[in-house]
Amino acid sequence: MKNLVLKNGTIVNEGEVFIGSVLVSGERISRIVRRSAFPTGEDYLSCVDSLSENAEVVDVAGLHIFPGVIDSHVHFREPGDGLKGTIESESRAAVLGGVTSFMDMPNNSPSAVTRQALEDKFSKAEKTSFANYSFYLGASNANLEEIRGIARQDVCGVKVFMGSSTGNLLVDSGKALEDIFRICPVPIAVHCEDNAIIAANLKSATEKYGDQIPPEMHPVIRSREACLISSEKAIALAQKYNSRLHILHITTREEVKMLENIINPDSWDINDPHRRAMITAEACPTYLWFCSQDYKHYGNLIKCNPAIKDEEDMLALRSALKDGVLKTVGSDHAPHIFQDKLRPYTHCPSGIPLGQYIFQMMLTLAKAGVFTLEEVADRMAHGPANCFSVKDRGFIREGYYADLTVVDLQRPSPSADNPQTKCRWSPFAEEGIVFHPEEGKDEIIPSFPCSVMHTIINGSFAVKDGEFTGIRCGRRLSFNR
Ligand SMILES: [Zn+2]
Repeated sequence: MKNLVLKNGTIVNEGEVFIGSVLVSGERISRIVRRSAFPTGEDYLSCVDSLSENAEVVDVAGLHIFPGVIDSHVHFREPGDGLKGTIESESRAAVLGGVTSFMDMPNNSPSAVTRQALEDKFSKAEKTSFANYSFYLGASNANLEEIRGIARQDVCGVKVFMGSSTGNLLVDSGKALEDIFRICPVPIAVHCEDNAIIAANLKSATEKYGDQIPPEMHPVIRSREACLISSEKAIALAQKYNSRLHILHITTREEVKMLENIINPDSWDINDPHRRAMITAEACPTYLWFCSQDYKHYGNLIKCNPAIKDEEDMLALRSALKDGVLKTVGSDHAPHIFQDKLRPYTHCPSGIPLGQYIFQMMLTLAKAGVFTLEEVADRMAHGPANCFSVKDRGFIREGYYADLTVVDLQRPSPSADNPQTKCRWSPFAEEGIVFHPEEGKDEIIPSFPCSVMHTIINGSFAVKDGEFTGIRCGRRLSFNR
């Protein structure tokens, strides 16, 4: 494999933004050359040139080099729902959006609730994935021995749907939940919504509206109380058993308040005895981007679980992510057939296919001043790497795998109206994108104001000059545990 030099880009990594070049040897980063380490620009460039002999040189002047995005929350629908997506189709869309690694959820048919079912997904990914991959084992009321037997270094985590009915993955037995939190050897990723509250709210909405429940009732039905009560329960269990808990898709300002009291925004060492708890939580761009006003425009297209809440929640989530109370960004990429999303509320499935756009959404928020570029790199690459203890990825470091995403922050995205997910739609595919740059303000932007130019995975180009290369360079993720 020829060496690769990304020459003279703007590197965004570990709290810094600096001019430099990245030398890749084989699958790994072998050297990072900083412009500031040389007395003159000429000295710097001649050093880079001397390293470039026999290497492929890609001039990235004016472009930004980020550590490859790790999307720790996707639903690629394989096995069982090939019309919506496959590991192959959805990983292709993901790499076009700058994602270099993904972690996929277990609510398939059949559900991934045994180690054998999980290994079947791994072998499928080995043959078809375009990005690095890992898979969550699903928790059920009855698979404790499977959870106990998980190979800690080989599997990203266990997914628990706490009181949220998703096929047979609902864990609603108190005893099963206690056991899972007590023995789980890997991070427990939880979907927190209380089913009883939702069922009662749905019943009253149905009595009032029949089959024609308006989309804006979604956050009233899947209410903030349903989220808060369930998150409280997960936190109490994690504190009782000192479990490693990661709460997915936080959507309410009340949960943010609760997390502020238990999460140390400055500490990453989840084994640190002085940490307040071994608890982390995720933000999804969906809830940072949309708020309840947008149901008017998008209808059920933005129906997802938990529901998108109010503007005040959106702003609180942005602050919490910025402050490090929320430490990771995941897409919750959830493809559905477009015609199904046009059905009336009770028949419309929940979920939005956003995996291809999360990096551009976050960069757009950064350009509007909501986040810094360093924060985007942290929450989308360093954060997931730290949260799951991903081995040798998530940072631009010598010796680490060369997973890199190169973006042009000046060039408008060509892809917002041409989504590559198998179901071929996104809420952005129509006439412009509704955007809330700050409190009380909304505007329509024609496209994202930034483009993914290169996605490099294990030293190979999965995307080059914005074009998909077809090179399958993904590997199974390993974890330092
Ligand atoms: Zn999800």
